[in-house]
Formats: sequence, C-alpha cells, structure tokens
Amino acid sequence: MKVVLASSNPHKVKEINAIVQSLYKNAEIEFILPPEGFDPIEDGETFEANSLIKAKAAWELGKTWTLADDSGLCIDALNGAPGIHSARYADTPQARIDRVLKEMQEKEDRSARFKCCMTLLNPQGEVAFAYTGICEGSIVKSQRGVNGFGYDPIFLLSNSDKTMAELSEDDKNAVSHRFKALKEILNFLYKN
Ligand code: IMP
Repeated sequence: MKVVLASSNPHKVKEINAIVQSLYKNAEIEFILPPEGFDPIEDGETFEANSLIKAKAAWELGKTWTLADDSGLCIDALNGAPGIHSARYADTPQARIDRVLKEMQEKEDRSARFKCCMTLLNPQGEVAFAYTGICEGSIVKSQRGVNGFGYDPIFLLSNSDKTMAELSEDDKNAVSHRFKALKEILNFLYKN
C-alpha cells in the first residue's frame, strides 16, 4: 500500500520509511512524495491545523491515502516558541539555534518538547486518524553533536545525557516525536 506523504522533502520520506521498516519487517506500507505541484500555504495557528492544511493540499493532487505531519520545538520559558514558527525562526539552521540560545540565556526553566502532529486522510479526503507525538527534554546552554537536523544540537533528551544531535539516526528514530506519532498512524493502518 502506498501512502502519499504531504512533504516536498525527500529526506523526510526516507526517515519515515526507515521508521516503518524498523517497526515492521517487510512492511507493506510505503510512503511516497506527492505528485508535482505540492505547495500549501501553512497559515494555521496550531500544529494540528497546519498538518490538516498540508494533508488536504496533497490529497487534492493524489486523491489517495495521504499523511501529513507538522512539527516543531516548544519551549516553556518562551511561552511555547518557536512552536509553529520553528522552521522560520531565523534565516539559517545555525541562526535559529543561536536565536533560541540567546533568548534562553537568562532562563532557569529550560524545559522543552518536540511535537509532531500527523493527520491521515483516506482516499475520500476525510480525516481517518490524527495523533500528536511528543518528545520531552530541555534546552542546553551550548550546542553539542552534529547528527540530525534543526534544533537537535540544543535539545537534551529527558533521562539522557545526550542531545538529539549526539544520537545515531536509529537511536533518534526510536524515541522521536515523529516516531511516536508514526507508530500510532501505522497501528491504525494495519488494523483497518
Ligand atoms: P516541519 O514539520 O517539517 O515543517 O518542521 C518544522 C521545523 O521544526 C523544522 O524545520 C525544524 O526546525 C523543527 N523540527 C521538527 N522536528 C525536528 C527534529 O526532529 N529535530 C530538530 N528540529 C526539528
């Protein structure tokens, strides 16, 4: 069974298919990029709303099973920022990290979480299932590690002495917010 992933990022498709294979040997579910023309305007105010916007835009192009995700980093001391603005918090990945570290300089409460909201549409374009995966942690004072992407170098996992960027790809895929959401989506797909 092929499911369109509402993303134009081949890296994300690869990461999600790797998670599928890690959960189900010889999985029959494969995620694929949407047909050409996928360019939604993500103007929702929550991860859930943006995930639905992306899902509907990709469904319009393929009219088949479609999965969208919207994710980001939420920091308590910054009232949830960067949140839905995670991808655009500054111009480059390093500038985004620098901005967060600067804003967190004087903060004692360093608690934070990655969230990933996934929305699955059926071939009729209806929401079949939606789930938000959460990965708890905190913001370190200076970045560590080179793996992963985005805010991984400044996110210390709960109950661990490693930042996300110090984990191998497989280890990250076993604990991430994306993994937790995808696990529930796959459970749903396999049951139905
Ligand atoms: P999107 O869901 O692909 O739009 O991602 C939103 C943004 O959130 C990304 O560009 C990253 O800045 C951040 N983000 C989401 N997931 C992760 C992660 O696993 N590690 C680090 N940053 C992430």
